[in-house]
Amino acid sequence: MLTSEYAHGEKKEEVNWNKGELKALIFDIQGHSVHDGPGTRTTVFMNGCPLNCIWCCNPEGLFHHPIMVFRESRCVCCGACINACRYGAITISEDKKLIHDRNLCDVCKTTDCINACLHEAASLSGKYYTVEELMKIFQRDRQFWGGKGGVTFSGGEPLFQRDFILEILKRCKKAYIHVAVETASCFDTDYYMEVMNYVSWVFTDIKHMDAVEHKKLTGLENKLILKNIRTLAEKQDWDGFMVPRITIIPGLNDSEENIRATAKFVKEIGLEVINILPFHRLGESKYRQLGRTYKFAEQKPPSNEHMLSIKKIIEGEGLVCFVGYETPF
Ligand code: SF4
Ligand code: SF4
Repeated sequence: MLTSEYAHGEKKEEVNWNKGELKALIFDIQGHSVHDGPGTRTTVFMNGCPLNCIWCCNPEGLFHHPIMVFRESRCVCCGACINACRYGAITISEDKKLIHDRNLCDVCKTTDCINACLHEAASLSGKYYTVEELMKIFQRDRQFWGGKGGVTFSGGEPLFQRDFILEILKRCKKAYIHVAVETASCFDTDYYMEVMNYVSWVFTDIKHMDAVEHKKLTGLENKLILKNIRTLAEKQDWDGFMVPRITIIPGLNDSEENIRATAKFVKEIGLEVINILPFHRLGESKYRQLGRTYKFAEQKPPSNEHMLSIKKIIEGEGLVCFVGYETPF
């Protein structure tokens, strides 16, 4: 999977992608989004993440440059891309299927195969945007947001491309655009708090309360994450709204002990709401398109009954719990 050398081959450092003109690498922009904060929103999915969650459903977001994705179902095996690829990265199997050498594709900076493909079987994920380009999209979409909506920055991890996110947030504030972020809160606290000056709504993941388990699941411990969430929740002059989110993954973070510990922490820092989301396997096809093995193919999503039993535990700790994306906000 994408925890491979390449995905974090750039050593999890926050790469300075913004050489020259300030640009961000973005792998999707969705208008009319209704699950990423209050009202109708435009959601921007930004590349890069300091974590490496084993269940990641947006593996394309881990890449640090645009990447070729291959949709086998669209391929008519015409061979145009094979001839076009200057690295000889594509071969064809006996049963007439394309085989890509992903070691070559992952570091390829050309779009030879994509340009050659007339069937959109090979396409590019990830595009650079300037602040102005993004602001134009927001101004275009603004008419659809209604009174409560705005922009949500998601990912990947939206705080990863530091210079860009700070700049676009400042511009949004000037333009009176309501901003939400969906973050893992895994950054040095000074930077995290600086960003939050410009954000009105925060969905923050809490993936596991136990530091050792957290590291096993995501590659990093949770100390900094919990510190940031606490610092923001307790900041008197921050008038935003923060909603901790837990993606429930059976057998990994759904024990009563972990759920109770999460709820107690959330209550202790003065928050009132938790949003639980069922793990899903919708990212599976993306792994295939990126030439990766999805190691979570056998992982079962939690049943509705199980989600409701977790909701009960959280409510038992005196919090409000919303299940799934059907939230009132
Ligand atoms: S991504 Fe690059 S290396 Fe891979 S098939 Fe396309 S042109 Fe060749
Ligand atoms: S050019 Fe497109 S359709 Fe033709 S073999 Fe390559 S990926 Fe398949």
